[in-house]
Amino acid sequence: MQRRELLISSIIVHAARHHGDGEVVSRREDGRIVRTTYAAIERRARRLVGVLRALGVKPGDRVATLAMNSDRHLELYYAISGMGAACNTVNPRLSPDDIAYIAAHAEDGLFFVDPCFLPLIAAIAPNLSDFLRAVVVLAERGEMKPCALPPGVALHCYETLLAEASDEPEWPSFDENTASALCYTSGTTGRPKGVLYSHRSTLLHAMTLNFADTLGLRATDRVVAVVPMFHVNAWGLPYMAPMVGAALLMPGRHLDAVNLLGLMNAERANLSVGVPTVFLGLIDHLRRTGEKFETLKRILVGGAAFPRALIAEYGKFGVSVSHGWGMTESSPVVTLYAPKPATAQLDAEALLDLQAKQGRVLYGVDVRAENESGAEVPWDGKTQGNLVFRGHWVASAYFRQPGSQVGEEGWFPTGDVGVIDEQGFVQLTDRTKDLIKSGGEWISSIALENIAVGHPQVAEAAAVATPDEKWGERPLLIVVPRTGCAPEPEDVRKFFEGKTPNWSIPDRVIVAEELPHGATGKILKSKLRELYTGPQKP
Ligand code: ADP
Repeated sequence: MQRRELLISSIIVHAARHHGDGEVVSRREDGRIVRTTYAAIERRARRLVGVLRALGVKPGDRVATLAMNSDRHLELYYAISGMGAACNTVNPRLSPDDIAYIAAHAEDGLFFVDPCFLPLIAAIAPNLSDFLRAVVVLAERGEMKPCALPPGVALHCYETLLAEASDEPEWPSFDENTASALCYTSGTTGRPKGVLYSHRSTLLHAMTLNFADTLGLRATDRVVAVVPMFHVNAWGLPYMAPMVGAALLMPGRHLDAVNLLGLMNAERANLSVGVPTVFLGLIDHLRRTGEKFETLKRILVGGAAFPRALIAEYGKFGVSVSHGWGMTESSPVVTLYAPKPATAQLDAEALLDLQAKQGRVLYGVDVRAENESGAEVPWDGKTQGNLVFRGHWVASAYFRQPGSQVGEEGWFPTGDVGVIDEQGFVQLTDRTKDLIKSGGEWISSIALENIAVGHPQVAEAAAVATPDEKWGERPLLIVVPRTGCAPEPEDVRKFFEGKTPNWSIPDRVIVAEELPHGATGKILKSKLRELYTGPQKP
């Protein structure tokens, strides 16, 4: 057999040759819609390799992006990785302090930024002057604005650099184990940690996600990438879609329900991928306005638990939900819902229960639930264990963090706790640090939140542990009302009766206007504990 390196550039080369007219549609900062094709993206990305070289980038370097989803960000994904450097997609929702930490840790010499993030980069640039050489603004010449950068740090216009560059003849070839991208965790505990992906791991992840039983993208699909390209490589979409020629629809920073629904309907999207908070907002918008999804048929949701009640509601709007689980450390997808032969026997309610779990394990990775001594616990859907995983797209260590190695064969500790059922479906109970232990029994905050969101007046819910003299800990529930509703705390408490054992029903329900969310859309439990229960758990 021929042996060819599994390189990211091969995806865009294939897309240009076999799906050259495949569309990439982006919403710019000012709301304008721009359209391009995979053929044009490949040509421009190849040109961009020349730009990167001229700016002093060498194979092995890290190059940062601070940008929302767009065709230009896609070009950067391919050009940076394609020339043998690593694309460090920085999350602009992190604190400036964390962003500066990441840039210093990665030694990013170049930053490619959307115009709206110029003030952010200008604010942190003085702390990066040891290694930062230039900031390139993803804009046309006429859109350039002045920006005060430290001496020695150049400011460039992306489109001008591209216009002045000449075409590179072809993509370079190198070892498939070369680093392609560097993503940092959102650092809810401590500093963000870096995970370095390789060309090989990225391709294997993307190919598996394109299996029929996973996301199964096809050339005729039109996918709205709600998940940002700065969050774990948009879960692989920028690789999966061009690999099969599916159209990529990029909302930019316009992630509000009105703009998203507008983009979905106008662009005939049939699929979308993102975190629960965005899809929560979207369904609330549909409830209030009576608007509809005109073409959307499927969503892939992960990053936080997607409540059962919302899976049912999306079903009523004609949209099926694939619920998945993963982390930055696993590229990210490890499990995803898809039916099995045994699923056909289930009635509608039991099927919903199954869909609300986090899915079953993809080929190429594996998951175990382990007890405290590291032995695998039975697949009975009841016995809880610490979830660990390993596989072709699981990190063997954090970037530049000595002592973090789990090695090539080791099981990576996820920090999540859950159960695995007889059919191999994984169900998350909690993150270890968010578990509620009451009178020696574990209470799953995800299970409580799932029930609460089934209440007709509740939009979003979070359960956290509060210290209790008698029981050790007791659950406290904080709920956000649906628009125009005012749920009674006692009524919400009563709603739990018969749905969960009495001892696990929250003692107290607090109605709040909103819940604090982190940089990747997750509810910040630590902040809630601080707000409502005093000092944080260690
Ligand atoms: P961070 O940068 O915060 O680690 P990740 O996206 O890597 O961001 O977060 C991974 C964590 O998100 C998982 O360990 C898990 O706790 C949580 N998570 C991801 N998907 C789900 C899901 N479907 N249900 C519940 N929790 C999830």
